[in-house]
Amino acid sequence: MIQRLLITGHINAGKSLLVEQLTELLPDWQMMHTDDTIPLDLSWAERLVLVKEWLTKPAPWVITGVMIPAAVNLYFKDNPEPPADRLIFLKQPLAALTSRQQTYNKTIDTMYQKIRCRVPVPTYSLAYCTVCQELIDAKSCEPSHPLRVLYTNS
Ligand SMILES: [Zn+2]
Repeated sequence: MIQRLLITGHINAGKSLLVEQLTELLPDWQMMHTDDTIPLDLSWAERLVLVKEWLTKPAPWVITGVMIPAAVNLYFKDNPEPPADRLIFLKQPLAALTSRQQTYNKTIDTMYQKIRCRVPVPTYSLAYCTVCQELIDAKSCEPSHPLRVLYTNS
């Protein structure tokens, strides 16, 4: 069962759409977005520490945003175990990107390379089982259970 989910990746790659679907399916889960730290009067480093602390919150939760690879990298400095059950990294842009956004995506990639082997990713695809009412790896459920597939590894 998946109860701690990280959604990150490139700018404009569909993170918010996925969160909308999850919010609808899992109304009791805590949903956090790293952009919510922007209005706080904090430096980047302070925001990163705050997001790192979110990773230790009790499940179930979804944390979304571009700061996740850096926050997870910081988390691994004092914790050997992965902070989440699954991490989704979205790459396919939904719209054309500015050169500034493309540059930012490269820095996100660099940080993701540091953590990608240490955080579990969905096995084939992530789905919501409408019978068990749980978030699962799509192939791990009963064949008779109707699934709503939310994300498939490319
Ligand atoms: Zn099921």
